[in-house]
Amino acid sequence: MARGKIQNPDPVIIRISRYCNIWEEVQECPECHGECMATLEVPVIDHMHGGFLTERDGECPTCEGRGWIELEEPEDA
Ligand SMILES: [Zn+2]
Repeated sequence: MARGKIQNPDPVIIRISRYCNIWEEVQECPECHGECMATLEVPVIDHMHGGFLTERDGECPTCEGRGWIELEEPEDA
């Protein structure tokens, strides 16, 4: 299984208006649930101890801080 792949069996569809009077259906970000922020694992390079991961709050990398992502096209088998 690909690491980092988002399991999203029940996408939440929201409607946004990126342009005046043009509404688009998009998917609420399954990572941050539209909050645009996420807890990120940040690798810290430490040559003495081999490095480690730390956590910090930051812009959600899945939706790039928008709170939504483009709807995935249905995949044909
Ligand atoms: Zn997000």
